[in-house]
Amino acid sequence: MQDGFGRKIDYLRISVTDRCNFRCQYCMSEKMTFMPKTELLTLEEITLIAERFIGHGIRKIRLTGGEPLVRRDMKDVIQRLGRKVQSGELEELTLTTNGSLLTEYADHLATHGMRRINVSMDTLDPVRFGEITRGADVKVVLEGIKAAKAAGIQIKINMVALRDFNEDDLLPMAEYCATNGHDLTIIETMPLGDVGADRKIAHIPVAEFVAPLHDLYTLSPVAHRSAGPARYVSVEPLGLRLGMITPLSNNFCDDCNRLRLTTDGKIFMCLGHNAHVDLRAAVRKDGIASVDQLLQQALKLKPLRHDFNAQLEGSAEILERHMNVTGG
Ligand code: SAM
Ligand code: SF4
Repeated sequence: MQDGFGRKIDYLRISVTDRCNFRCQYCMSEKMTFMPKTELLTLEEITLIAERFIGHGIRKIRLTGGEPLVRRDMKDVIQRLGRKVQSGELEELTLTTNGSLLTEYADHLATHGMRRINVSMDTLDPVRFGEITRGADVKVVLEGIKAAKAAGIQIKINMVALRDFNEDDLLPMAEYCATNGHDLTIIETMPLGDVGADRKIAHIPVAEFVAPLHDLYTLSPVAHRSAGPARYVSVEPLGLRLGMITPLSNNFCDDCNRLRLTTDGKIFMCLGHNAHVDLRAAVRKDGIASVDQLLQQALKLKPLRHDFNAQLEGSAEILERHMNVTGG
């Protein structure tokens, strides 16, 4: 598949639920309203749509949310899509998770073809972790990560850079990741949905956030690329691969290969735009074959780039969707 700007599209992110057992301050407001369950795609619809997309050239799928592992029928979704990895139709099936349920899921993920996952953890400090997630326990996440590693899954830690909150946590996090053989990726906050706070205050460019590493280590660009937007450096002699996701400070849309399927069955071609097509209504009315034509329509909707800087400044179309609906 190609979009209107000639970019190859082969990576699908599916938000399998908008619900979550955390309430991270940059992702959600304290009192979130979630979609009624009848609006969510069923397990059957998710897998049928994903399989149809694979037929059109999707090679990598990331399951995300909300917290994907809180969905009751997740084991079935993973098992069914995992078969596509085992048959070679899909290169990769991955997951972004807050890690809280990994102890229960690790073996299931590994058995069904999941070789690497992203786990979000913004600090190792239990008090700060409780604060940013509004009540979660970092010990549970660390145990989950251990279980996933023991099951043979490679881990990348996602850490959102938050000014005046977790700058001091970078060095301990880098050391923890290096010691345990995990990659680490730093992410700039994006203005998605109202979280009841001024996003400008928390925003910090990744280059500024990682600056303290330069005092202790040598950072050199490396050729490694994952399917997503991170750019990587090696941090030596620590022995850490560090990714940086810089939607605001260094736009990476030129080689964007992604499309997103939301919890309620909409295709969004860009996290930062409201344009979408509604698959759920069409699939429920006309059957799964209607995906083919709507996918072609969606490809034409993919914008050249997002507008997060203008949105952060309040001078562009506001994005009311929170990150948990479109999926990270
Ligand atoms: N619940 C899972 C988790 O936290 O990993 C998956 C969904 S979460 C929305 C996916 C990723 O998006 C996480 O790494 C999270 O830190 C990040 N995220 C959430 N809201 C964000 C925002 N406004 N800006 C940047 N990253 C955000
Ligand atoms: Fe939940 Fe992930 Fe959002 Fe945190 S970032 S509230 S864990 S969906």
